[in-house]
Amino acid sequence: MFESLSDKLHDVFRKLRGQSTLTEANITDAMREIRLALLDADVNIKIASEFIEGVKAECVGQEVIKSVTPGQQVVKIVNDKLVELLGGGASELEFKSKPTVIMLVGLHGSGKTTTAGKLALLLKRQGKKVQLVAGDVYRPAAIDQLEIIGREIGVPVHAERTSVNVAAIAVNAVEQARTAGTDVVIIDTAGRLQIDETMVQELVRIRQAVRPDEVLLVADAALGQEAVSVAEHFHRALDLTGFILTKLDGDARGGAALSIRKVTGCPVKFIGMGEKLDSLEVFYPDRMASRILGMGDVVSLVEKAAAEIDEEEAKKLQEKLRANKFDYDDFLSQLRQIRKLGGMESILKFLPGGRQLAGAMNEVDPRHFARMEAVILSMTKAERANPDLMDFPRKKRIAKGSGVPVEMVSGLVKQFEGMRKMMKQSGPLGRLMAGGSLPE
Ligand code: GDP
Repeated sequence: MFESLSDKLHDVFRKLRGQSTLTEANITDAMREIRLALLDADVNIKIASEFIEGVKAECVGQEVIKSVTPGQQVVKIVNDKLVELLGGGASELEFKSKPTVIMLVGLHGSGKTTTAGKLALLLKRQGKKVQLVAGDVYRPAAIDQLEIIGREIGVPVHAERTSVNVAAIAVNAVEQARTAGTDVVIIDTAGRLQIDETMVQELVRIRQAVRPDEVLLVADAALGQEAVSVAEHFHRALDLTGFILTKLDGDARGGAALSIRKVTGCPVKFIGMGEKLDSLEVFYPDRMASRILGMGDVVSLVEKAAAEIDEEEAKKLQEKLRANKFDYDDFLSQLRQIRKLGGMESILKFLPGGRQLAGAMNEVDPRHFARMEAVILSMTKAERANPDLMDFPRKKRIAKGSGVPVEMVSGLVKQFEGMRKMMKQSGPLGRLMAGGSLPE
């Protein structure tokens, strides 16, 4: 899967990487092609468009890293946005209670029973004592299937063939697991071909009866956007804690994997990569992005180059601080570094004066940063190097040049002056800004 998307993205990047400079026109072309590639992979149109907008905004605001080509930088931006779209970091299971109860739900044929076995094996291999529960009581064959899987992987299966009260069966199983010192209970439930009210009601009853730590929807990735709408339905009814996407080894175009997180706000936790019981993997957004882009080398090259630049800039800034000289060029490179830091609030709040600064920076709204950058870039070289030149006529000219109201320029000048003052007095904050480490 993702092969066609990967091929198409490769083509786009091959063209871009050849360019020594990027113009608005060739970025626009590339973005159009990426958008089409996403739509072809069955990504929801709204998400594809938002993705492209995000990449474009990032491209405009990026500083140029001299040692890599602009095309390589675009690859890195697309990579980062893709990781973000896929959910950022991995969302692993938490084992807060003993036993931790995991309830699997999903449509018939999605791979639920197989996945119950796969998950049991994965957790068993992590040293956990696992118990499976046969909750698909309407199909004796489903109970048989789970028992066969249980024997194969050496995990006990709790089944009550004479009862159809799944909630009660689940409660019994969890009770027994508690006395047996079991770590994890995995409940397989009944699915239907389509979502219907009776099925949902039964699932809600089980959920209320056992209060599982995790309610995971097993969804067939081959269904594409249909899988996403199934996910939305289930999420509304059951307040899911995550997804397991199956059959990603097949020829699915991958749209479900790309959009499900963004559409539902709920993370993909595992992916099924085959029929075998050991083919369940933890879902890592960054690995998935590099599988799709196949450009891990370019991404790490740009990361390294960017880190070197940061170091150089930090050194320069340190010298300036020592000489008590902080100008708009420094401010600009600060803004860019802060933008890279992302959640700067979390760092700043530990530092004296940090809270105000985070507020003044208007947190991390990228559009705001982009506008601030545009304002500084509209200043003349002399103005940037000598902040004391700033006066009202200059502010008016700069506002016109950068297409913002003059109040925004005044606001920025004020922030700059505030920062300059803080830099002069600062201990830890200045050191952090200059690339030093946080105080112990
Ligand atoms: P359930 O009705 O949801 O319980 O679905 P099953 O567990 O019976 O699975 C339905 C079919 O999908 C079976 O043939 C499984 O072997 C197959 N299957 C499940 N997960 C995967 C997967 O990740 N990849 C592939 N290729 N097949 C899978």
